[in-house]
Amino acid sequence: MAEFRDKALEKEFYNAEIAKNLNYIKFTILIAGLVYFLFIIPEYFLIKDATLFISIFINRCIIFVLLMFLYIKVSRDKTYFSLIYWFTAYEIIISLSFIYVSNQFPSPDLLIQSFGVMLMVLTIFLINNRWLYSVFTSLFVSTGYFIFSTICFNDVPFAKFSAAIVYILIVIVLSSISSYSINYYKRIQYQNTIELLKMVENDALTGIYNKAKFNQEYARLAEWAEQQNTCLAVVMFDIDDFKEVNDHYGHLAGDMVLTELTKIICKNIFQSDLFARWGGEEFVLIFPDVRLKQAIERVERLRNLIAEYTFGEIGKVTCSFGVAVFEKGDDLEKVLQRSDERLYLAKNSGKNIVK
Ligand code: GH3
Ligand code: MG
Ligand code: MG
Repeated sequence: MAEFRDKALEKEFYNAEIAKNLNYIKFTILIAGLVYFLFIIPEYFLIKDATLFISIFINRCIIFVLLMFLYIKVSRDKTYFSLIYWFTAYEIIISLSFIYVSNQFPSPDLLIQSFGVMLMVLTIFLINNRWLYSVFTSLFVSTGYFIFSTICFNDVPFAKFSAAIVYILIVIVLSSISSYSINYYKRIQYQNTIELLKMVENDALTGIYNKAKFNQEYARLAEWAEQQNTCLAVVMFDIDDFKEVNDHYGHLAGDMVLTELTKIICKNIFQSDLFARWGGEEFVLIFPDVRLKQAIERVERLRNLIAEYTFGEIGKVTCSFGVAVFEKGDDLEKVLQRSDERLYLAKNSGKNIVK
């Protein structure tokens, strides 16, 4: 039905779609409210009956206030998905109000009013709503209109009445088809963008961030640390004697070590930590808001977990670690260089060591 089967993905897509079009949606609500209200000006000159004019005026005021309320809700809400229900309710209320008002005019004409209903249908399909709800709402509004006009117009010729029904139905069918394909292709584009981003930001073998994404996130964390007046622990580590693993067991077995090792680390760090593949068999970790002593303790634990793990037929594999700390005013590159130098020190001190 022109949406993702995966409910979580659909929600994510809808939220992203609203966030992307937020200013346009807010602007449309504002303009819709104003235009709907300003119709009162021609009505002032057309409608001679004072009571009728007041009832239409109140009707327009209520819709205007409701739309302003929706404007505030859209501006303040952060969970956009619930807007689907709000949009649907507003579509129904405004359409019914529109039908009511247009029938109050002296000598209303069925065909002119049908143009109004077509306009409502086209507007409904322009709103960011679930496709199925848009179809349902436009059918509901048109059916409502025809029931209303059967009661109001007794002397409309059958041909005119059926022509109005057929034209409105055609508008609904065409709008549904075009809205379906727009919704379908928007989702395909969204999925492609997500996959492309994954390929650009993540390492193909291990799935963790690559160097490019790491640099981006590292700069963001450093900026955060500067603002919060805190530090970041930067850890570089490298698998010991990995070349021997490849030489003895083959490249595929080497790949398995890289993926297993990544899983061990991922399971034992916090969500706020940053973990990336620096290249080859070298990795980098960032612990935000962690001082040197605490960082070394955490890295010692990781070193032990890896050293104790059995990597299938390969058996034991160890890593060497270098730890440095980013403090206010530090240079990003220099801190990385310092942790790399400490990694070399660990390698030269006998490997399977934290320095
Ligand atoms: P050291 O303890 O000094 O780090 O020795 P090492 O053998 O680990 O280091 P060296 O730089 O000599 O070798 C690294 C090896 O890592 C060589 C390279 O083929 C292997 N390697 C790099 N990337 C991959 C990969 O994606 N998959 C596999 N299987 N091997 C890789
Ligand atoms: Mg190595
Ligand atoms: Mg290396």
